[in-house]
Amino acid sequence: MNDDIAFIEEQVDRHHDWFSKSLPMIASENVISPLAREMLLSDFGDRYAEGLPGERYYQGNVFVDEVERRVVALAEKLYRCRHADVRPISGTVANLAVYYALLEPGDIMTSVALSHGAHISSAKFGAAGMRAVNNVNYPFDIDRMNIDVDGTAKLLRDVRPKVAAFGQSVFLFPTPLKDLRDAFQEAGCSVWYDGAHVMGLIAGGQFQDPLREGADVITGSTHKTLPGPQHGILLSDSADEKFVKRLQKGVFPGVVSNHHLHAMAALGITLAEHLEFGRDYAAQIVKNAKALGGALASRGFTVLAEKHGFTESHALAVDVASLGGGAAVSLAFEKANIITNKNLLPWDTSSVKPSGVRVGTQELTRLGMREVQMAEVAELMARVAIKKEAPERVAADVAELRKDFSTVHFCFQSGVEAHKRLRLFG
Ligand SMILES: *Cc1c(COP(=O)(O)O)cnc(C)c1O
Repeated sequence: MNDDIAFIEEQVDRHHDWFSKSLPMIASENVISPLAREMLLSDFGDRYAEGLPGERYYQGNVFVDEVERRVVALAEKLYRCRHADVRPISGTVANLAVYYALLEPGDIMTSVALSHGAHISSAKFGAAGMRAVNNVNYPFDIDRMNIDVDGTAKLLRDVRPKVAAFGQSVFLFPTPLKDLRDAFQEAGCSVWYDGAHVMGLIAGGQFQDPLREGADVITGSTHKTLPGPQHGILLSDSADEKFVKRLQKGVFPGVVSNHHLHAMAALGITLAEHLEFGRDYAAQIVKNAKALGGALASRGFTVLAEKHGFTESHALAVDVASLGGGAAVSLAFEKANIITNKNLLPWDTSSVKPSGVRVGTQELTRLGMREVQMAEVAELMARVAIKKEAPERVAADVAELRKDFSTVHFCFQSGVEAHKRLRLFG
């Protein structure tokens, strides 16, 4: 066998082996179901489609069109909206489509600041900068880990943005959209909700329902709390056909050519499974996050927003400045096979040496863990970061805990057959 191929295969095998013994707690990740994973290997991944079903620029899309129409219908049903676009190939690309559709260079957009949990795509040196929008940040209430409602209403009235953008990557509490409705009206702005992290919670009836609370458009990733393929989605319930056309054109020809048809098909499986299992899954994710927050705090961790119940989502922000900082602690966790990431907290200035660690419960929940296991997870984390036990020793107990949680739940086929066929998870 070719050495390079053997090398790459071996690394991937080792990765699978490692992750099968680990606690995956990155708040933006998840595992897809066996049935959805099969779609990723289908011939759809070798083909091209551009434009909309029935109006393509390539031949060969007969069945692709059938699938895409069904995936769109599933998304519109799950999110109760008039318009779903399943072509953005990631959350960032869905965001670029909105920039393209709704903003012109020099226009004012309001958004959450990076240090307050916003995503890089809303920053000047990210996607927002590519459209050269003039970005103004909301005031933030650190205690509540949320935008300050009164200050934000005033800001919207003062700067009258073209677009008011919301949504975060450290997204602990629902955005108070309903309280800002009058301000949106007075500012005459479009309201854009980036729900990348919480798409699965929204679809499962948790967190909030942005389209009913004033959002004109939602963008999101389909692989965070929505446990689908790495892909993006754009939703709107607008009855204004011109507005919807602008969004559609923002996606194609704006920022997408071929839209990764295998991922689009896999997303359809995920949406169908979420219609069936999403309510239970989303509810358990949030219960687990609250339980983990409590269990970490009771073991001496400083978990943000303790007074407000730590979180209403899948995510927690933990201040580990006194334990060595986010970089050192997340590295120690990794040595114990607890996979997290260092994260900026609101008062941080350095993204290389931030004082926080961000964790999410969506993937552990997907693997079948519940509140009791959250206490065990918190204890393992405390042994590494607080008791400073050798991470390698803790890793053995991490693997022990993980042994009983090796299959994907909240989907039609929770067995391991499809995974075995794909040489995943042993
Ligand atoms: C993750 C994230 C994105 C980007 O998603 P990708 O699918 O990784 O491109 C956009 N916005 C927010 C708020 C996110 O957290």
